[in-house]
Amino acid sequence: MNPEMKALYQEMILDHYKKPRNFHALNNQTHEAKGHNPLCGDRVTVYLVLDGNTVKDIGFQGTGCAISTASASMMTDFIKGKTIDEIEHLFSAFHDLVTLEKPLANQDKLGKLKVFEGVREFPMRVKCATLSWHTLKAALNEKDQPTSTE
Ligand code: ZN
Repeated sequence: MNPEMKALYQEMILDHYKKPRNFHALNNQTHEAKGHNPLCGDRVTVYLVLDGNTVKDIGFQGTGCAISTASASMMTDFIKGKTIDEIEHLFSAFHDLVTLEKPLANQDKLGKLKVFEGVREFPMRVKCATLSWHTLKAALNEKDQPTSTE
């Protein structure tokens, strides 16, 4: 990555860290899951409204480092309106992006999420970047449940 792009990317991560998008619970979620990355102390809860196979709305809450927060913020922005199948592909593409020197899955669809490419150089940070994705997947795999009244 050239230095100019790197600076732009860092700026984007900081911006999402300081002003996370979709940073709220939903009151009509159909799915939710909690994630924890003990290596760094990041915690995230992902809330989803699924309409058939499509993510109609998504929000998250949690505490964590800049990478985990920015990743959750950008992920929620990115997958709103996408189908479960599309999300599966994006998840593998994103996972490849942050772990493999030569990603196997098609990277073209990732768009802005490519900003996390630099994480590859810091293996400790990979879990920070993927925490929200794993949590999203856990939420999607969960069966429809009535919202808890607690
Ligand atoms: Zn972290």
